[in-house]
Amino acid sequence: MEILKTILGITGISTVLAVFIIVAEKFLNNYGECGIDINDGGKLLKVDGGVSLLSALASNKIFIPSACGGKATCGLCKVKVLDGAGPVLPTEEPYLNKQELQEGVRLSCQVRIKKDLRIYIPEELFNIKEFNATVTRITDLTRDIKEYRFDFREGEEISFRAGQYMQIETKPYGKVKERAIRAYSISSPPSDKKGVELIIRKVPGGVCTTYMHDHVREGDEIRITGPYGEFYMRDDSDDYVFMAGGSGMAPIKSIISDILEKKLDKKMIFFFGAVTKKDLFHTEFFRELEKKHDNFKYVPALSNPGPDDDWEGEAGLVTDVMKRYVETGRDRHAYLCGSPGMINACIKVLTSMEFDESKIFYDKF
Ligand SMILES: Cc1cc2nc3c(=O)[nH]c(=O)nc-3n(C[C@H](O)[C@H](O)[C@H](O)COP(=O)(O)OP(=O)(O)OC[C@H]3O[C@@H](n4cnc5c(N)ncnc54)[C@H](O)[C@@H]3O)c2cc1C
Repeated sequence: MEILKTILGITGISTVLAVFIIVAEKFLNNYGECGIDINDGGKLLKVDGGVSLLSALASNKIFIPSACGGKATCGLCKVKVLDGAGPVLPTEEPYLNKQELQEGVRLSCQVRIKKDLRIYIPEELFNIKEFNATVTRITDLTRDIKEYRFDFREGEEISFRAGQYMQIETKPYGKVKERAIRAYSISSPPSDKKGVELIIRKVPGGVCTTYMHDHVREGDEIRITGPYGEFYMRDDSDDYVFMAGGSGMAPIKSIISDILEKKLDKKMIFFFGAVTKKDLFHTEFFRELEKKHDNFKYVPALSNPGPDDDWEGEAGLVTDVMKRYVETGRDRHAYLCGSPGMINACIKVLTSMEFDESKIFYDKF
């Protein structure tokens, strides 16, 4: 009996404490309406306090890049907070360098709004829009890569620089109960304003790629936002080396198409690394461009061609193949896109070939 009384007593006290905490949370964390002053009065927002800066901005249609949906694991959602944010959290520290910390740069997903804020956002982020796009075409490119055509609603258009990316928001499916947001580079050229094309490789166990490959069908509507990113063509060279592997072809295809459509006087060579012939795609597309344009050359390279591949093209590591084509010591730009391993190896080779490191641009994924 004594034991039962003690247990009931403890349970009662715990329940009262829990209710107290819930009620206190509700009142103490009620920060009321807070103001956000963006770019010295350029835009003034009124938002409910208690939410993250990232979500407060998104609900006002200001989209900050974020590939992890607010979990502080991608480090993309940086915003300069000039006034009103609390101390930098340990979750932010790994993503902020010394200079950024001095300038007040924060991960907007980790800044909880508790009072009025003054922030700075680069103007180009105001160009980022939200689209409810319809998947109008899905094409199998290889055993694990598909291309998706998204068309926007009547009257909606996008303006982007070749090389930039979009963010896809998934819906809950199967055992995945939460929405996820992931980045995918646009493979279509900027002249195509009524939609975008994305090239997506299926990652085993990946939330978004499993959703796209196994659950999305032509006719489905998906929320996408964009354009984002700093990976785009800089116009101060007339000699370009492009290198990609797998779905890393996406932004390179957009940049090359853009240059050729605009008839810019640039010399271009594109090295595409794959393992076997089965991993090549859009070969006809690039061969056609080569036939039509003297200033463009396409070099697919297989690292391990199979006996059935009947391959007469370049073989070996794509970096070694590149060394056979590209001269050292000239004023060229390099644009690289693919796995971190491939990009790191390329940078090493390019710098050994006297490329200026500041003229080597890349997106690793
Ligand atoms: C700027 C940019 C542009 C990009 N462009 C492209 C593009 O054009 N094409 C493209 O294909 N990709 C692109 N990516 C990569 C893309 O954004 C995704 O990271 C990628 O598709 C994987 O997403 P996912 O949701 O399928 O995988 P995630 O769910 O994020 O999983 C990634 C990995 O983690 C593992 N994992 C997941 N959950 C767990 C867990 N609980 N425990 C252990 N392991 C786990 C998965 O198995 C997988 O190996 C780009 C990335 C960036 C940053």
